[in-house]
Amino acid sequence: MSSNHSSQKRILITGAAGFLGSHLCDRFIKEGYHVIGMDNLVTGSKRNIEHLFPLKEFEFYFHDVTKFVHVPGKLDYILHFASPASPIDYLKIPIQTLKVGSLGTHNLLGLAKEKKARFLIASTSEIYGDPMVHPQNEEYWGNVNPIGPRGVYDEAKRFMEAITMAYHTYHGLDTRIIRIFNTYGPRMRLDDGRALPAFFGQAIRGEDITVFGDGSQTRSFCYVDDLVEGIYRLLMSDYVFPVNIGNPDEITIKEFAEEIIRLTGTDQKIVYKPLPKDDPKQRQPDITRAKEILGWEPKVSRAEGLKITFEYFKNVVSRSEIS
Ligand code: UDP
Repeated sequence: MSSNHSSQKRILITGAAGFLGSHLCDRFIKEGYHVIGMDNLVTGSKRNIEHLFPLKEFEFYFHDVTKFVHVPGKLDYILHFASPASPIDYLKIPIQTLKVGSLGTHNLLGLAKEKKARFLIASTSEIYGDPMVHPQNEEYWGNVNPIGPRGVYDEAKRFMEAITMAYHTYHGLDTRIIRIFNTYGPRMRLDDGRALPAFFGQAIRGEDITVFGDGSQTRSFCYVDDLVEGIYRLLMSDYVFPVNIGNPDEITIKEFAEEIIRLTGTDQKIVYKPLPKDDPKQRQPDITRAKEILGWEPKVSRAEGLKITFEYFKNVVSRSEIS
């Protein structure tokens, strides 16, 4: 039975139709919240949340958060997860990427202030740029090229942290900042250009696997359920400084490609393509803070997470081949 009484917590999740946003909607519905999902569907897909449409605990607002945001009624929490988040996407729509991180964040901070809502932003490991410190802890300020191809994303996210902290300091707004490291799982877009969906798509379709550079660059991949748990715990905590959430299990991109070839049981070969400009050479979260403050650490191994994700992508590829 649904509880539509006034004590029910109400949460606004922007980027609700995206990979992370849609998993967050599921989680907060499960926790008994009234969830308002907002998205302009530029990179998100209704398919990720269509299972929620019949629920009266869920509402969907088709809206671009860079324009004034109006939500009637009370709001207890706002999670700002709207943004293109893959290098291919933010190269295609650089201005929107800058706007959603800056103007969008400003609008939502105004809304949070008006509603006295707790405000959590999705920041990113990208704010560390091509890091000179390894693994990256929250005290590191980063090494970002502001005018490089990734600058539109990295600087928007850095601005987002700055303005969020300013609202906390000057307006006493209750804020949280999470720095998300590479995350994967069902509902990632097959064509978003990221390594993981690219490799799965290529392996399943019987194409060569495209590794950029010599594949010696590293990443550390976190399964989406672990990330969502970290976000939930941070939101419920009283900690206002940035917290890294990610899986420290680091791997080179070449080894990662080989892992996916083995898992999919294909014998695709790896072909090497030029490394994109400013592609970080290494990335691994230092999660000491998350462990100490949130009692959080990832639980899902890459082997388990990749198996679940493979099943998802197999279905997506067969669906797209039929239609
Ligand atoms: N990458 C690759 N082949 C691809 C797509 C990406 O080798 O088809 C590389 C990319 O250059 C980067 C790593 O894989 O070094 C992770 O890329 P992704 O876009 O997934 O995430 P990000 O660079 O934002 O961490």
